[in-house]
Amino acid sequence: MSRLRNSKRKVVGHESDADALRMVMEMMAIDGRSGEEAAIMDYVCGKLTEAGIPPKAIALDDAHRRSPLGGQVGNLILKLPGTIRGPRRMLAAHLDTVPMCVGSRPVRKRGRVVSANKLTGLGADDRSGAAVLLTTALAIVRSRLPHPPLTLLWTVQEEAGLFGARHVRISKLGKPRLAFNFDGGSPAVLKIGATGGYRMTIEIYGVASHAGNRPEEGVSAIAIASLAVVDLVKGGWHGLIIKDGHTGTSNVGVIHGGEATNVVTDRVQIRAEARSHNAKFRGRIVQEIHAAFDRAVAGVRNVAGKAGRVKFDGRLDYESFRLARDEPCVVAATAAIAAEGLEADLAVTNGGLDANWLTAHGIPTVTLGCGQHNIHTAQEELDIGEFHSARRIALRLSTAGESK
Ligand SMILES: [Zn+2]
Repeated sequence: MSRLRNSKRKVVGHESDADALRMVMEMMAIDGRSGEEAAIMDYVCGKLTEAGIPPKAIALDDAHRRSPLGGQVGNLILKLPGTIRGPRRMLAAHLDTVPMCVGSRPVRKRGRVVSANKLTGLGADDRSGAAVLLTTALAIVRSRLPHPPLTLLWTVQEEAGLFGARHVRISKLGKPRLAFNFDGGSPAVLKIGATGGYRMTIEIYGVASHAGNRPEEGVSAIAIASLAVVDLVKGGWHGLIIKDGHTGTSNVGVIHGGEATNVVTDRVQIRAEARSHNAKFRGRIVQEIHAAFDRAVAGVRNVAGKAGRVKFDGRLDYESFRLARDEPCVVAATAAIAAEGLEADLAVTNGGLDANWLTAHGIPTVTLGCGQHNIHTAQEELDIGEFHSARRIALRLSTAGESK
């Protein structure tokens, strides 16, 4: 097939921009925080079956049963047999949103979509990616566009810790050789790597006592926690960390403890994280956090010389990865972006992505933007032009045949 004929068909087969915009706005209006994706899943499945896609092409896996979060549904997988030769390609996006997007009321504001509900985020992260996949599938099926074997994967529970991608049933994906994840801002930014992250829960146990009558008998867990955080900040191990040519980040993000001012608090729970592209350095950050809490425990004693204690619990959320520039999915995405008149900008991100787990599962996955901005805030927006541009890129990627 000549390239010219191929590209003509793409234009003919394109879903109209107005339809696609309506669809993404409907999708952003559906509540669906991590673990509660049943409603948005129904919406996507409904559109696929309405377009005449046979139910047997659509499958749900059981990722939620293996997720620590539980959840309503597993990942949604659509497999289309190829009509032209070429390696199987996969498009992916996540269906869940962060909790602050519950209640989103998408409205158009010039070239953007925002939430009319000022208290919520919009949910463009990642309904824009989910809509890119959906409109691509509909365009291909309705206009009978020639395409290689395709897998479309809508994951669940990305925001809660990448659980959908982590626990995906790989055997249901049909061994894709090239994979493209849609989640982010500019469609020209290609994320070819992402950092690895480690999450910790730190329990601090002190000794309770009356804060007015016998404060000297207490061991304050809050004092221990505070000393530890000060230690980390002063030592340069909190926030952005740059040491001996290595970089990483850490954050004490949650602190819970205490119920009354007249009690020396004997229990505090802290949740913290450490990230670095370098696994060894990430381990060092975790060690430094442990050491700071151990020192803090030793630094707070009651009148009898008794100290508190600290218990650490942690796990790797996702391993870091870095794709080579000549990895087929990177080459294909760069070309599709160029065909759109843009220049690909290869980037490595500090956030975890579904691509971390997909790549770890043996499916090298590059991540492209689809118009999301100010994500995880009440100022979240969808750039409509970028969203359509991402759709055109996705259509090119899923209708490209055999490459050399
Ligand atoms: Zn996202």
